[in-house]
Amino acid sequence: MIDKGIPESEVMRLLEETRERDYSYDRFFSTMCTLPHPIAVKAHDMFLETNLGDPGLFPGVADLEERVVAMLGELLGCPNACGYVSTGGTESNIQAIRAARNEAGIKDGNIVVPASAHFSFDKIGDLLSLEVRKAELDESLKVDISSVEGLLDEKTVALVGIAGSTEFGQVDPIEDLARMAGESGIHMHVDAAFGGFVLPFLKRKFKWDFSLPAVSSITIDPHKMGLSTIPAGGLLFRGAECLSALETETHYLTRARQASLTGTRSGAAAAATYAVMMHLGREGFQKMVDYCMDLTEHLVAGARKIGVEPVIEPVMNVVALSVPSPAKVREELMKLDWHVSMTREPNRALRLILMGHMSREKIDLFLADLETVLSKL
Ligand code: PLP
Repeated sequence: MIDKGIPESEVMRLLEETRERDYSYDRFFSTMCTLPHPIAVKAHDMFLETNLGDPGLFPGVADLEERVVAMLGELLGCPNACGYVSTGGTESNIQAIRAARNEAGIKDGNIVVPASAHFSFDKIGDLLSLEVRKAELDESLKVDISSVEGLLDEKTVALVGIAGSTEFGQVDPIEDLARMAGESGIHMHVDAAFGGFVLPFLKRKFKWDFSLPAVSSITIDPHKMGLSTIPAGGLLFRGAECLSALETETHYLTRARQASLTGTRSGAAAAATYAVMMHLGREGFQKMVDYCMDLTEHLVAGARKIGVEPVIEPVMNVVALSVPSPAKVREELMKLDWHVSMTREPNRALRLILMGHMSREKIDLFLADLETVLSKL
């Protein structure tokens, strides 16, 4: 650290200079985050210094968090759900599995996840000393039920289904998974970090949430399709006993017990999530999802015109495009300031997320550049 501080104007100049090196969302196809809604930014600023780690000092924002949990629970078919606003999908997944493990009381257990699961489950295996068993996918990149069946045993503490996979936006057959989990008395966790704010608003309807009695917990991220500020994740449990399974005693705080993973945690993101959910309501989220799905159709139709097919017919606003040498294509696109990502082997493809910050015009420009890049391969 420098010995003597420099004037605010100088610090701001340094910050601005550095900020200019960050890329801009309007060229991003690669991210499941987006520009937060302006009302979320206002609320975030208003609650900047609040700490949900010590809720007795901040009962106002603690109440907002409870209201967010209730709204999310209602959206996902369980108005009485318990949970909290986490830092994102990774924390929610960790905590859901930790609760399942603690409830099962098995220390050398395993979890069964689809091969398409987010890498947070690999972290979970390491953190919680659980074996992560990966079930195979079928040709539409949903988890294969027969493969899951072969992996479950008496040491399985949780079965995971993905409602909106990170790479393909695919939805696993959650109803079948929940039936299997229910029959075996295993905790069923649904990772809807991305899909949670999409699936309730799609024309095509899926059975995947708490309306299935065997679903025990759900991850849903307001900082993805929920238009909130980062870091806003959501972790919901059907029953309060799961939350209790996460609690530790807090000796010096205003509340005697704490279930969250982090101690000090921002109330700003909870307030931002509350603000945007109240301001948009179901109608606003419906419009946003309609808009993103229109962009998705526009992209796929345009890609087909230049001879590029999606790996699967998109279910939500996540598209994987089959191109030769995807890594090279991605690199060339980055030189043109287009940011796309890639899916894993054995289905390597360009991965694009159509978020609300994108537009039809930008997609047309992107496709023109993609065509040029492909022609030079
Ligand atoms: N689960 C799914 C399905 C995701 O797509 C992601 C991130 O993209 C995560 C979990 C992890 O979320 P985060 O990056 O907010 O921790």
